[in-house]
Amino acid sequence: EKSRLAKLRRLPAITVDAEEVELQANLEIPAELPLIAQAGAQGIGLLRTEFLFMNREDLPDEEAQVAAYTQVVEAMAGDGVTIRVLDWGGEKDMQALADGIEPFHAGPNPALGLRGIRMLLKKPDLLEAQFAAILRVAGATASPIRVLLPMVTVPEEVRQAREIYDRVVRRLRRRGVPLPDKLPLLGAMIETPGAALAADAIALEADFFAIGTNDLAMYTLAVDRAETEVAHLYDPLHPAVLRLVQFATEAALRLRMPVSVCGEMAGNPRLVPLLLGLGIRTLSMNASAIPRVKQVVRTLKIDDCARFARRVMEQGDPKRIQELVMGFGEGGA
Ligand code: PEP
Ligand code: MG
Repeated sequence: EKSRLAKLRRLPAITVDAEEVELQANLEIPAELPLIAQAGAQGIGLLRTEFLFMNREDLPDEEAQVAAYTQVVEAMAGDGVTIRVLDWGGEKDMQALADGIEPFHAGPNPALGLRGIRMLLKKPDLLEAQFAAILRVAGATASPIRVLLPMVTVPEEVRQAREIYDRVVRRLRRRGVPLPDKLPLLGAMIETPGAALAADAIALEADFFAIGTNDLAMYTLAVDRAETEVAHLYDPLHPAVLRLVQFATEAALRLRMPVSVCGEMAGNPRLVPLLLGLGIRTLSMNASAIPRVKQVVRTLKIDDCARFARRVMEQGDPKRIQELVMGFGEGGA
């Protein structure tokens, strides 16, 4: 089993008809880095930076962030790293920001409140420090670095974030800090129904999309992702979620803009044919899922996936979609 995995690690994630698929890793804590290397990830598609802000009573300064991002970038040895700026709020609890240092109130409904980019735009010094740290790391490496904004719901949030980003770039240039010739791209998470349905407008402001199906399913279905009582309703195969994924993907592809799926859905081998069929070519997932997903990719034909996705998208009942997904490959796509 171990040597089989080692062999698989060296094989490309490519379909039978030679379509290349990029399999990247999500990283939540640096301790996962060895696993990522082992899994044969093509870079990190989602570096969640919340770990830097958790379990502490103060905030990490720019230097501490530079050190943390550098560690990750170096471990990836030339492969790309997409760094998501702080996604405070929702189910992600960060004490130092909640009380004491920066008193932010989660509000009566944290998932619908001051979360992600909303909070950062209210506290631009936090965002500036994070942008500065990321830009400094990008300037000190040849690896492609990208920046990702969480919880975007309107194009204006991307515009405002980009203004701050450009301001930080100018400040670093004035100080003589080396920056890469091509600045890191600035992308938007598509993880609310509003963002997905306005993806064509957000695409005009963002350089790339990362579709976050964890939150997208939660907000679309009005099912808290952490609430066990309604867990049976939490289903990324609900046609409403799939239609939003499709809409956002097509908005990006029309503009030839990079788009990935980085929710848990991306790491489910059963769902790979569907996602490829919808036009997705980059999947970012838990590192441990990469080998099995790669195995599946290497058995697929894109035409079959596209035909299969069309069949799935005609269905309105999640139960029927589940059956189709489980039956993929049996008796023709
Ligand atoms: C998502 O919402 O799908 C996502 C990838 O982000 P997170 O799980 O960190 O909220
Ligand atoms: Mg999310």
